[in-house]
Amino acid sequence: MKRRSILTVALILVVSSFAHAQENQKPTNHVPKPSEFLGFEVGADRKLADYRQIASYFKALAAASNRVELEILGKTTLGEDMFMAVISTPENLANKARYKEIARKLSDPRGLTSQQIDSLAAEGKTILLITCNIHSTEIGSSQMAMEWAYQLATTQDSEYLRRLNDSIVLLVPSLNPDGETMVTEWYRKYLGTKYEGGEMPYLYHHYVGHDDNRDWFMLSQIETKNVNHMVYHDWFPQFWLDEHQMGFTGPRIYIPPNADPVAKLVNPLVHRGNNLMGADMGWRLEEAGKSGVIYGYSFDAYWPGGTRNTGWWKNMYGVLTEVASARIASPIDVTPDELQGGTKGLITYEQQINFPNPWPGGSWRLRDIMDYELITSSAALETVSKFRQELLRGVATMATEAVQSADPQICWRIPIEDQRDPVTAARLIALLLEHGVEVRVNSDAKIFLVPTAQPYGRFVDEMLGIQRYPEVRPAPNSGILEPYDVAAWSLPLMMGVKAERLAIRPDQLNSSHILKDAQWPVGGLTSSGKYFTIAAHENNIFALANAMQAAGGQVFLSEKHNETPEFIFPAHAQLAANAEKFHLQLVPRPDLPQGATQLKPVRLGLYKPYVTSLDEGWTRFLLDQYGFKYKSIENKEIRAGNLNNSYDAIILSDSSREAIVEGKGNRFASSEEFPPEYTGGIGKEGVKALREFVDKGGTLITLANASDVLIGEDFNLPVRNALASPAGAGGRSATITSDFNVPGSLLRVYLDTNHPVAAGMPHEINAFVDSPIAFQTSIPTPDIQRSVIAWYPDDAKDILVSGYAHGAERLQRKAAAVAFTRGKGKIVMFGFRVQHRAQTEGTFQLLFNAIFWGAR
Ligand SMILES: [Zn+2]
Repeated sequence: MKRRSILTVALILVVSSFAHAQENQKPTNHVPKPSEFLGFEVGADRKLADYRQIASYFKALAAASNRVELEILGKTTLGEDMFMAVISTPENLANKARYKEIARKLSDPRGLTSQQIDSLAAEGKTILLITCNIHSTEIGSSQMAMEWAYQLATTQDSEYLRRLNDSIVLLVPSLNPDGETMVTEWYRKYLGTKYEGGEMPYLYHHYVGHDDNRDWFMLSQIETKNVNHMVYHDWFPQFWLDEHQMGFTGPRIYIPPNADPVAKLVNPLVHRGNNLMGADMGWRLEEAGKSGVIYGYSFDAYWPGGTRNTGWWKNMYGVLTEVASARIASPIDVTPDELQGGTKGLITYEQQINFPNPWPGGSWRLRDIMDYELITSSAALETVSKFRQELLRGVATMATEAVQSADPQICWRIPIEDQRDPVTAARLIALLLEHGVEVRVNSDAKIFLVPTAQPYGRFVDEMLGIQRYPEVRPAPNSGILEPYDVAAWSLPLMMGVKAERLAIRPDQLNSSHILKDAQWPVGGLTSSGKYFTIAAHENNIFALANAMQAAGGQVFLSEKHNETPEFIFPAHAQLAANAEKFHLQLVPRPDLPQGATQLKPVRLGLYKPYVTSLDEGWTRFLLDQYGFKYKSIENKEIRAGNLNNSYDAIILSDSSREAIVEGKGNRFASSEEFPPEYTGGIGKEGVKALREFVDKGGTLITLANASDVLIGEDFNLPVRNALASPAGAGGRSATITSDFNVPGSLLRVYLDTNHPVAAGMPHEINAFVDSPIAFQTSIPTPDIQRSVIAWYPDDAKDILVSGYAHGAERLQRKAAAVAFTRGKGKIVMFGFRVQHRAQTEGTFQLLFNAIFWGAR
């Protein structure tokens, strides 16, 4: 055996050096086709390559072709390697360091003459980033990526070779490898059953499911961080194409340009570049006989939260394609009566100038999706090669305009000490650095300055300023166009960080220097002592409390009327290290204050519905981030009752009553069912079990729409939702028509800081609101105590802080969060989104307080 293995090794060495010699002469020899390598026909009905198969194919491709290299972008949440293929001519790949440098210089051309910019644009290559499969059920692009990469690796066509010579393609076959694995496993498991191609009863990203494409300005998830780092610190691609899929029954593909509204601060050259690519995609699709192509549809040019559009404010061209879906890899058949419009850009499914050749209906399969995507990917490469110099110069032009149109003295000033939560302020600065923003710091390292006159200056103003949603009407008397997603992303307001935009004296600016690395407040114990104290107004204190409880330490809370409560930690071997880790400075005190209460570890449960709730995933993420121990509870366990045996507090994340109680909603088709083990909700018996849980002393916390479970006769609480609409209302339309609409905006809310849930918080906060919820309490019966923890201002014009609020007068004086006690049991209902997408750091503490309230 031994001799044989030595022989094998020798043979491999000979073969591989031979292969290497061959490659240099004939780069495209022996490159395996995806179908040949994987042993099944890629793109065939009911066949899918999973992430590891895709990765293994790309490894083989990179080994066989000198036009393909692989780069590891980092690990995923579940520990998988996330990779990217770099595809170009061997000559370009050999010089990639030089092309990266040119890309970086053009993105920040300060100090270059226009002749220098011209010569860099002449020398440079356009770097085209193509990302696939961020939404894992939108799986066509991940399969297409293998075929397209094979084409690029093997083509001898002179036109294609010219394109490759002009450009470097960065191809990410999946932005969410964990999700791709989950979706292929689920699909294969139910192949051949009536559940084939159906939805999963869990999120297709460990934490955030579909919201992995809502994370691109906050960068909370590891996958987002990995790609962000590659884009804004390493490769500086000029163009980003992100490939998605949409529903079954509308147009076959959406191509650029976007729909209205348009963001004010984005340089119009971004849209002009995007339109060049969209025009070429449309032409190539039509030429190939592909119908159902639409532009100016659904996806607006306003929101900065998705992959390619965060870059618009950083002078990057970025587009999206959305191809109609099949049932994963199972074909569908669409009859003409099922074809529908109904969204912005296509109200009825009719021929229009942005939709000149409607698809007539018929069968639709994975192969169709991939064929459309092969054409648009190819057109993308064609565009960036044909307009190489223009696009490269355009980036420098936009960056120069961003610098020159701003006043060099105007900066965002963020003091680190004068903050309620200095660690969160430091986190905001760290986030700006991750985004590639230039941040300056004064000589004593206490004041950060973010100049608006910098290449990413418009991004800075967009993210640190407030939003006013533009009122664009498609017709004189119609409602205004709906935003695609939320309408506010003002980071300082969401995070509860003081930041001011003002003119800084030139001498102050000159004495500051560029901040290289994130800088965190110094934590630790100021001296030795028996007890240590810290005022309860920093999020990280909860992480410290959880860490100390996990280490067997004690945690006390000392509260006094109208004063900020204090956390008290008895001396402990791990206290100093943890205080340092969480950047908190603890001050010694000789004793425990009178009346201090011990916070016991909370046995926390987090309800996990089968009709997936993105908010459940985000809540889980946040609890993990801050070290809260919890257990996910599924329907069966709730229905079984006796919840007090296992839990002190239970959280119901944002979900509709229908989803929680009946397990309905969110499905592809209204008739669709989950496999029996995932069917239904908590049911009537589950609602009863939750009521019993509270009656026996448990604490129930509901987030946003989950409060509906508690409103009504089951719980008989003195509260209703004043904005409740008839069941079935809502859903996406083109314009805002209802008399109340707050599409994810920041609203002013006042807090009763003497209530344990709002203790340590400021009296006034910016609450993230995205649902029509306004609590109206009433006089309770003697066994119930009700507290309005948070309420809206008396005057409607004081309500909106950032974003959009139509019908704000309906919120006047209404409650935004309420709490009830009945016996030893407690209920907290938040109408707004306390931890929305892990972005609203300014209100996390309300949730943390509510959890700890549950253990008192
Ligand atoms: Zn998508």
